[in-house]
Amino acid sequence: MTSKPKVAFYWCASCGGCEETVVDLNEDILKVVAAVDIVLWPVALDFKRRDIEALSDGEIAVSFINGAVRLSEQEEWVKLLRQKSQLIVAFGSCAHLGGIPSLGNTANRELIFQRKYMTVPTADNSAKTFPCVSTLVDGHELDLPSFYDTVKTLDQTIDVDYYLPGCPPPTSLVGEAVRAILEGKLPERGAVLAPNKSQCDTCPLNETKPEKLAIREFKRVATSAPDPKTCFLAQGYICLGPATRSGCGERCIRGNMPCRGCFGPMDGVLDQGAKALSAIASIIDSNDPEEINRIINTIEDPLGTFYRFSLAGSLLRGSRVVETKRGG
Ligand code: SF4
Ligand code: SF4
Repeated sequence: MTSKPKVAFYWCASCGGCEETVVDLNEDILKVVAAVDIVLWPVALDFKRRDIEALSDGEIAVSFINGAVRLSEQEEWVKLLRQKSQLIVAFGSCAHLGGIPSLGNTANRELIFQRKYMTVPTADNSAKTFPCVSTLVDGHELDLPSFYDTVKTLDQTIDVDYYLPGCPPPTSLVGEAVRAILEGKLPERGAVLAPNKSQCDTCPLNETKPEKLAIREFKRVATSAPDPKTCFLAQGYICLGPATRSGCGERCIRGNMPCRGCFGPMDGVLDQGAKALSAIASIIDSNDPEEINRIINTIEDPLGTFYRFSLAGSLLRGSRVVETKRGG
């Protein structure tokens, strides 16, 4: 029997990048392994559900769960981990606010299946085969997870104790969080484990941000390159820095890319997209409604721009879907 605290890692609807962050701890992972007893880590170690079910309630000290909740299987797993864990940490943007997978909340299961299995140019599905929840294998019925109509954040599914933001969270924050947990030096329950400052507060380009911004056209990094030494917003590139929590080390900004908002909002902000929209709307340099419309129309994909990482966790949650019939 070991007396080391038990730790679990689990992933739901995610790209796997958050798992990479754990691996990116490099040799520090050995310190983590020496200090804790990993009881679940599907990407790296072969544990089974029955191993977790066999534990007592609360026996796991902390479970780090990344990814949004999209499938019935993910819901079952996170509920099991909640029951078995003293602490749950929502790890990364998708668990925290829905992340990129929750942009799927602009459609529903029917529309997603239609696109993925029928109408996408690479689809070759003349038999019209779609995912189902039960299938026969060698005469045996096999139950499969069901795909929900919408993506949920982790805390829309289970109670969450702490949030580690980012897409993915930087290793420095992960290391600090693990240390704080092991030493019992955690902030108040419900806290986001990153500074409560905006990206603009810590941005290396902050000095070049004018007191009063005035924009008459929005530009895209896809079609023109920003000057890396000048505030992106001052140049007309949408930067979510004013509405985004710091703590990432300004990774995108230092790579000449405006902040896309993966760290989520600061404390007390209910809707990061609305906060960003309000910041951007306030710098449009016109009082003429037609001119304002023209300027706004230079923003490509407003929903994907302002809610790229936070749609499920926003007040909107998604958009209304007009039902269509499944066809060939
Ligand atoms: S708007 Fe963006 S580039 Fe400008 S200071 Fe804020 S974070 Fe930096
Ligand atoms: S700059 Fe913005 S999008 Fe990039 S890692 Fe930091 S918070 Fe995320």
